Amino acid sequence: MAAQVVREWAGIQQFPAATQTKLLELLGKLKQENVSTLTILVMGKGGVGKSSTLNSILSERVVATSAFQAEPPRPIMVSRARAGFTLNIIDTPGLVEAGYVNDQVLDLIKRFLLNKTIDVLLYVDRLDAYRVDNLDLQIVKAITDSFGKQIWRRGIVALTHGQMSPPDGLSYDEFASKRSAAILKVVRQGIGMRKSEFQKTPIPLVLVENSGRCNKNESDEKILPNGEAWIPGLVHKITEVVLNGSQSILVDKKLVDGPNPNERGKLFIPLILAFQYFFVVKRIENWIRTDIRKERRSKRF
Ligand code: GDP
Ligand code: MG
Repeated sequence: MAAQVVREWAGIQQFPAATQTKLLELLGKLKQENVSTLTILVMGKGGVGKSSTLNSILSERVVATSAFQAEPPRPIMVSRARAGFTLNIIDTPGLVEAGYVNDQVLDLIKRFLLNKTIDVLLYVDRLDAYRVDNLDLQIVKAITDSFGKQIWRRGIVALTHGQMSPPDGLSYDEFASKRSAAILKVVRQGIGMRKSEFQKTPIPLVLVENSGRCNKNESDEKILPNGEAWIPGLVHKITEVVLNGSQSILVDKKLVDGPNPNERGKLFIPLILAFQYFFVVKRIENWIRTDIRKERRSKRF
């Protein structure tokens, strides 16, 4: 495999000074915690803004974006270094084709990730869509089946087109919170998480606006309709997820070739059944036998 080219992160200087300061502060916080490399895996349907979000985070036009779904057919990792810190972002092709999760694309992504460690999963969708459906559920399930449920402890949901205008009759806040709740619900269901579990370890959601027409604040930072500068906000969420005490996901051969990681526990089922037979069923049988014997004896008298 060709060595990965790590270039200096020049794009950081393209950000307004206020954003640069916040980003360097966050990277410093990670280094303080001995995190000097960060690998972010970007996944989602085609055309939702995965590549655009990668470009926005790096402030460079590194990967091609397209309104017509002409995505690169394979994953690509972009690496940038800054002050002893390396940021890797892996852009992937859309997971859906002709209304189905494309297993070949998923396989391609898994193979590409072999021997890499994923620190953060950025699951991208659009804010300006009105429905979640079974396909969304299938995508989340497919990601969970491929990398294990625990990848979502490192997950962030990013909704692009954060500056959209909601349909008549709904305020922006109302629309954004309804859409966010609907997406998070389908994500929770796709992972197979109980509500209580989700409340304990919720998956953060961020809004993103990749368009060049994004509004800016007085410090020239791109802001969402709520006035928040979203790039530092997203990087802040990323650092929180990295430092939340959960494990990164090492994509080893077992994960790529092996059975569904969520079903590995099922190998123990025969053992558990045998245990139950000898220690529970046998015992109950003995009790019953003793009971019958006692009964007979008492009848004799
Ligand atoms: P991908 O297929 O998921 O990688 O999506 P792309 O990044 O190629 O984006 C698809 C199209 O949506 C492109 O025309 C982008 O310019 C556009 N796009 C992506 N993100 C946003 C966003 O946040 N706001 C707006 N207005 N357009 C976006
Ligand atoms: Mg793309």
